[in-house]
Amino acid sequence: MLILGIESSCDETGVAVVDAAAQGVPRLRGAALHSQVAMHEQYGGVVPELASRDHIRRVLPLAERALTEAGVALHDVEAVAYTRGPGLAGALLVGAGVACALAAALEVPAVGVHHLEGHLLSPFLSADPPHFPFVALLVSGGHTQLMRVDGVGRYTLLGETIDDAAGEAFDKSAKLLGLGYPGGPALARLAEQGDPEAFALPRPLLHSGDLDFSFAGLKTAVLTQVRKLGDALPERRADLAAATQAAIVDVLVHKALAALRRTGLQRLVVAGGVGANQRLRAQLGAAVRRIGARVHYPEPHLCTDNGAMIALAAALRWQAGLWPDDGRSYRFDVRPRWPLQELGHAVT
Ligand code: ATP
Ligand code: MG
Ligand code: FE
Repeated sequence: MLILGIESSCDETGVAVVDAAAQGVPRLRGAALHSQVAMHEQYGGVVPELASRDHIRRVLPLAERALTEAGVALHDVEAVAYTRGPGLAGALLVGAGVACALAAALEVPAVGVHHLEGHLLSPFLSADPPHFPFVALLVSGGHTQLMRVDGVGRYTLLGETIDDAAGEAFDKSAKLLGLGYPGGPALARLAEQGDPEAFALPRPLLHSGDLDFSFAGLKTAVLTQVRKLGDALPERRADLAAATQAAIVDVLVHKALAALRRTGLQRLVVAGGVGANQRLRAQLGAAVRRIGARVHYPEPHLCTDNGAMIALAAALRWQAGLWPDDGRSYRFDVRPRWPLQELGHAVT
């Protein structure tokens, strides 16, 4: 089954071709991506209307590039997958509209995919794919969740953030430090030169006994330090970046380990943009080794939004017999808000 996948939920347009046999891990054949980060940077955040318009400009040329890299023609495509939600409504509509039009022209099924399921399953495209069941730590720009994953479409929420997401905590702190937008990666780079213990920052909900997160208080603490430092900020910026990163990572590692203990599972999957963070990877690696568990990541270029994870999620759903039966109706809607647990199992 040759599947073309289209991602357009936020500020990345991604298209990819994934090939799946009835069994076995699907294979990524070709992919193309355009990030709108530079376009939104001057506004300090994503401007939804600009995002939608740019998806329109980019999506077909990217599809051509992905198909060329895969060495296949458009008429070889046997299904078109797209991100149905969650995300920006206008941005989602571009991907959904293009996907359904392509699928209708090719007379193949169109398949709507949950963006977070894409993130969650993306480690299956890595050299070291996980096995079910596992605990997933989903740490992206919009979400921070711990899930128990028993199979494709079988997700149980264990805990989530009650305010900001981990990626948001990175980005908002970075903004306070004057590191631009989205500053997560820049903060992480600067942190390498700083002392993580130079500032005592809070670890919210660290000992709350549940698997929920909260990062809003940390952001306030960073703001307080920035104000206190005043003109001295430039020479302490790296230390404050390091301390901020350490606080976020400590909480993520602590709760991920608690989720493994609580479920009795031995495998952890980390997905979403913050999963690219080197300190998180180092500390999680050491922590799971100590308890004899294992941790799996997506390939670095598949941590943030991309088309491959959308094509892959559709491929794994196909293998599991979970495709909706209205794939050839070419009617579509998008789900800007869409809890992952709602996916359930009963779609066939
Ligand atoms: P969602 O998937 O929840 O809708 P999103 O798609 O915007 O959100 P991703 O693309 O998965 O999120 O991840 C982007 C986030 O990851 C940003 O907040 C970014 O700052 C953060 N991020 C990326 N690389 C790093 C890094 N090395 N360290 C920390 N944060 C990072
Ligand atoms: Mg993005
Ligand atoms: Fe995402």
